Amino acid sequence: MNELEQLDKEYVLHTYARNYVHFKKGINATLFDKDDKDYIDFTSGIGVTSVGHGNKQVAQRIFEQASNLIHTSNIYAIEPQALLAKRVKELSGYDVRTFFANSGAEANEGAIKIARAYGETKFENKRYKIITLENSFHGRTITTVKATGQSAFQQSKFAPYPDGFSFNAIDDVYNAIDDETVAVMIELVQGEGGILPFPKDKIQELAKFLKENDILLIVDEVQTGVYRTGEFVASNLYEIEPDIITLAKGLGGGVPIGAILTTHKDIFTYGDHGSTFGGNYLVTATGLEVLDILEELKDSGKLDETIIYFIKKLDELYEQNRDIFLAHVGLGLMRGLRVKDADTLANLIKTAFDCGVMVLKSGNNTLRFLPALTISKSEIDEGFIRLQKAVEKIK
Ligand SMILES: *Cc1c(COP(=O)(O)O)cnc(C)c1O
Repeated sequence: MNELEQLDKEYVLHTYARNYVHFKKGINATLFDKDDKDYIDFTSGIGVTSVGHGNKQVAQRIFEQASNLIHTSNIYAIEPQALLAKRVKELSGYDVRTFFANSGAEANEGAIKIARAYGETKFENKRYKIITLENSFHGRTITTVKATGQSAFQQSKFAPYPDGFSFNAIDDVYNAIDDETVAVMIELVQGEGGILPFPKDKIQELAKFLKENDILLIVDEVQTGVYRTGEFVASNLYEIEPDIITLAKGLGGGVPIGAILTTHKDIFTYGDHGSTFGGNYLVTATGLEVLDILEELKDSGKLDETIIYFIKKLDELYEQNRDIFLAHVGLGLMRGLRVKDADTLANLIKTAFDCGVMVLKSGNNTLRFLPALTISKSEIDEGFIRLQKAVEKIK
């Protein structure tokens, strides 16, 4: 047992089955442990460090902001918060206002509150039910666990859960809707459930049906948002107009931030919702810097080049190892390889780590890739060389 493992096990609650590597620093998509061994990071902290590790431009902005003001509370107006809200509106192309939270789950909680407020004020009989999709993931609070469409997450020891949630296959949502249904909440590419992108026509059909029936569409873009799929939000790619979009992971480049964007701009009145930390100077100034970097990456064509290159390399790995990989799936830089069985997947992730490349699990049979959007060609090359080595080792 190394020193860090001892410390962690003694003092931190045991909620994560951890790998006890001791990382010391990172440069873009490369991490270094305390013995200076390097790892190509295809995980970006589960889609969080969108502009890479140790980003100097972001670090400088954090330093400057922290040296002046970190936090004043939401009792007072906060300039970078207002500017970031303006920015996400412009980048999304939707006519929205934004509330800033601190995480994905918390953003989804806010989205659920908006839906319930809508259900209260808009209809004679209150509508409060929210339908989600099977295999979805919406967070770890009591309510978002209940919204998550995987029974395994809804452990009885945490019961009782709030009423008004059910999950269904996308084709069965239509039948599940009743006169108390206020919203349907979906991911466009299910991230934790196994990298499952929905077909565009299916999503458009659902979106159209919901609009016609005055039922809100909430799109959880906590993982797909902030250019992960190649567009600012995946909703742009699917050409739909959600009532509510939630963002989190990639928005702060690693500082904790969540956002709820809604076209129902006046749904909340003063006092309806709030957060002590949400949208403070530190995180929103950082978010502005992250978006500066990512917007430039997108507009220069570099992001699209990286996506094409990453897909090409991943296709090569897939084609060379059809005996263990069943399919290559994903959108943008949110990608997966279906692995023939769960044991092979677990073995591969571990062996890959030993070979110096970090990859993730998703669902029960998918090898997941969420690299930094700024990942370089040489990091991609090196990562796939190491991954091929790992594959050969486990065969
Ligand atoms: C990660 C994730 C969440 C939860 O975000 P936290 O910041 O961990 O609360 C919610 N929804 C989706 C789609 C996610 O990928």
